[in-house]
Amino acid sequence: MSARILVIEDNSANMELMCYLLHAYGHVVLSASDGLVGCRMARTETPDLIICDVHLPRLDGFGVVTELKRDLCTAMVPAIAVTAQAMVGDRDKLMEAGFDGYICKPIEPEIFVAQVDAYLPESLRSTLHRPGMDSPASAT
Ligand code: MN
Repeated sequence: MSARILVIEDNSANMELMCYLLHAYGHVVLSASDGLVGCRMARTETPDLIICDVHLPRLDGFGVVTELKRDLCTAMVPAIAVTAQAMVGDRDKLMEAGFDGYICKPIEPEIFVAQVDAYLPESLRSTLHRPGMDSPASAT
């Protein structure tokens, strides 16, 4: 199976990499490059999971997750922060703000989709992961 995943990220290189990897592993990807558009898409598109950068134009990741978690339509959708702030204090702040988890930048292509899949119900996880086949190319 695959999931519909909303990626909210303003850095085009990071966005491209995440979308490429998620798509390569069979997920359907929706994208938004600022926090306000991201929140709106979360409500209208009802994705299965949301990946959100922290530093974003118009509304940052903290604002996005606050919005998502107080709206009944989106409160139950897992929201994962993607951040370079890997220190414990920052991690705690992200979780307190409402994120369900976080992934550290820089994105590690070999493990990124597995990191994301961990937050999805089993039925929506990528079926392309196989032991010893950890890249899209070798999974085909
Ligand atoms: Mn950013």
